[in-house]
Amino acid sequence: MDQRNRPPRTAAPAKRITLPRARKPAEIREIFRRFQAANPEPKGELESVNAFTLLVAVVLSAQATDAGVNKATRPLFAIADTPEKMLALGEDKVRDYIKTIGLYRTKAKNVIALCEKLIAEFGGEVPATREALESLPGVGRKTANVVLNIAFGEVTHAVDTHVFRIANRLRIAPGKNVRQVELGLEKAVPPEFGRHAHHWLILHGRYTCKALRPECERCIQSDLCDSPDKRIA
Ligand code: SF4
Repeated sequence: MDQRNRPPRTAAPAKRITLPRARKPAEIREIFRRFQAANPEPKGELESVNAFTLLVAVVLSAQATDAGVNKATRPLFAIADTPEKMLALGEDKVRDYIKTIGLYRTKAKNVIALCEKLIAEFGGEVPATREALESLPGVGRKTANVVLNIAFGEVTHAVDTHVFRIANRLRIAPGKNVRQVELGLEKAVPPEFGRHAHHWLILHGRYTCKALRPECERCIQSDLCDSPDKRIA
């Protein structure tokens, strides 16, 4: 066909993702009641000895496993548990300690820059506000949420891959992106469960509701779950 006579191409309609509805508040409360009954005091698995080492561990954990980070940070934190000591150690040595972790060169640079800023602007202390935390090198919203929650006891919802998956599968806070899920969790999680919600969701995702083969047969939420990913009737 003569190109000039071709009908104009119409753009393919954009694929729309329909999100499932969030659950009713009473069901969400029941989900967290079960998490709490099974594990009343959930803990993060990243090892740290104070707010500073927690911050560094979380910065190092991007695209790395907690176990891998712990292996590297145990000897590092034994000799450098303050910004001053980390700075005295220097970037080359920090890099040597963390070289088994992905992106270690950039992360070593960030850790040193972060220590410099903590000392110069925050008296060597980890700041307790989101704005100040997010001003630090290598610290984004998720890291700030983890530090605010664990070190300062705030109700924040750090959305990693596990939290994102579980919030969607269990319809606690369906969302297409991490920010949408985070906002959904802020609204949906009953206040009495807010402090630990992030840990329960991570642990559930890591050990039971795994990405590829969720272990539905031993899941404490199984009778409530109607996810298409569920592997039993
Ligand atoms: S029943 Fe299966 S898919 Fe549903 S929350 Fe439990 S482990 Fe995940």
